[in-house]
Amino acid sequence: MSASKIKKIAVLTSGGDSPGMNAAIRAVARTGIYHGMEVWGVMRGYSGMIDDDIFKMDSRTVANIIQRGGTILKTARSKEFFEPEGRKKAYANLKKRGIDSLVIIGGDGSFKGAQKFSNEFDIPCIGLPGTIDKDIAGSDFTIGFDTAVNTAVEAIDKIRDTADAHDRLFIVEVMGRDAGYIALHSGIATGAENILIPETKTDIEELVANLTEKERRKKLVNLVVVAEGDEFGGANEIARIIKERLPQADTRVCILGHIQRGGSPTCLDRLIASRMGYHAVECLMTGKTNVMVGVVNNKMHYTPLDKAVKAKQKISEDWFKIVKILAS
Ligand code: ATP
Repeated sequence: MSASKIKKIAVLTSGGDSPGMNAAIRAVARTGIYHGMEVWGVMRGYSGMIDDDIFKMDSRTVANIIQRGGTILKTARSKEFFEPEGRKKAYANLKKRGIDSLVIIGGDGSFKGAQKFSNEFDIPCIGLPGTIDKDIAGSDFTIGFDTAVNTAVEAIDKIRDTADAHDRLFIVEVMGRDAGYIALHSGIATGAENILIPETKTDIEELVANLTEKERRKKLVNLVVVAEGDEFGGANEIARIIKERLPQADTRVCILGHIQRGGSPTCLDRLIASRMGYHAVECLMTGKTNVMVGVVNNKMHYTPLDKAVKAKQKISEDWFKIVKILAS
């Protein structure tokens, strides 16, 4: 498909949801319509493409959604799309409407599916990184990360209030199965005494020594922020060990869970989602296809879809030095 011929774009959200997806849908729809294209919405990710749940959007369809969390297109994971038969059905449903390009807002799994689909059916695809974990190569930001971190910060601040009132040690678990960015950013921003993340080896002896030393100095209010994917286990496992080793500490666990996925997107998430959505359409128009649109050093950055993989980025030792010094 030659880029100049693109007339009908379909947009979908796939994989885990993240706040700001609506802002990205809105940007794709309005930019496409501005350039005289038809824009179609696909419900529930690749499932809707296979089940033919596809509708034409207009400017009004995306009115009043920039501030809303979740995704008006819903999202899903589709087993059928892994199979050639499923992708064939999906293609037939696009073809009967003359849809000739696709914008996928999701994670690296969704991009893998898009790459396969594009290779098989000559449909140009553009990916936008929609994930709260910020763990995709090729972008300094992902849609939803900033909101998730701010939600975590707000919750941890509240936990600190009650921890302070009772002189308690709280182990707070935040999301991040493979990546510790939410833990690292929210932990530093709330003055956590310790931050445990999958990218670094958790030394439980060091943690116990650190808490013991703080106790000796009568610093009884302590917050440990742990990413759910820390190799040592989540907050419950860490608390179990601490209770064994420091039975005198009043230790509590709080698992923040799915509240981190919801809520009204922050200004930053709305901005990057709007910018990425706008550039997705620009890419299709200029022939830059099968790429993920990212932002690196505040400039648009394009990564081939097959290179936009989950990336465990190296976290600078500096961060941990900051935690140690500032939470002393
Ligand atoms: P998250 O980061 O939230 O997990 P994701 O996009 O990585 O988002 P996945 O569950 O990995 O989420 O993928 C979403 C959907 O993309 C899958 O349910 C499937 O339909 C499609 N998909 C993923 N990988 C492939 C693949 N290798 N081939 C075909 N389709 C795929």
